[in-house]
Amino acid sequence: MRNDIKEILFTTEQIEEKAAQLAKELEVDYAGKKPILLGLLKGSIPFIGDLMKHMNMPIQIEFMDVSSYHGGTTSSGQVKILKDLDISVENRHIIIVEDIVDTGFTLTKVIALLKHRGAASVEVVTMLDKPEGRVVEMEPKYIGFTIPKAFVVGYGLDYDEYYRNLPYVGILKEEVYMK
Ligand code: 5GP
Ligand code: MG
Ligand code: MG
Repeated sequence: MRNDIKEILFTTEQIEEKAAQLAKELEVDYAGKKPILLGLLKGSIPFIGDLMKHMNMPIQIEFMDVSSYHGGTTSSGQVKILKDLDISVENRHIIIVEDIVDTGFTLTKVIALLKHRGAASVEVVTMLDKPEGRVVEMEPKYIGFTIPKAFVVGYGLDYDEYYRNLPYVGILKEEVYMK
């Protein structure tokens, strides 16, 4: 798999350190509350695991699966809910956990839905942000790393469902998705 990676952007150590820092920020900002960490499947799995173990406070872990990518490397703009929550978010403080924000379509849709369902607050913590890809206005409150407009994989991020298990974030060689 390493042969398919052009360049490693962030190592396991760098990501884990960043996750621990973000967890401490969340701990301060949500002191006295019992927030829901809402991971978006499947890309947020490693990141939510690293975040939660450093949050020394009562948190609830939930997941949703929404998709705007259909096996390719560009967003379609259409967001589908593949797996919904099975709990009420009414009056709850929600921290959405994302792997990466690109166009902003996915989060805009999920945030609107959660607010519509009566969430007390909705914020976003994302491991990666790609601001140059933004199509709709969307400013995550908590950002791990900002990256240029490249297609990255690893640490939860896939290409056609593979590479999620790479323990680092790297840029995929173009020839991998050109063939
Ligand atoms: P958005 O709706 O903001 O365009 O995209 C968010 C989702 O698109 C992310 O959660 C992720 O699943 C996917 N995505 C965006 N950029 C990348 C990327 O560089 N690599 C991978 N593997 N997925 C990406
Ligand atoms: Mg995602
Ligand atoms: Mg994907």
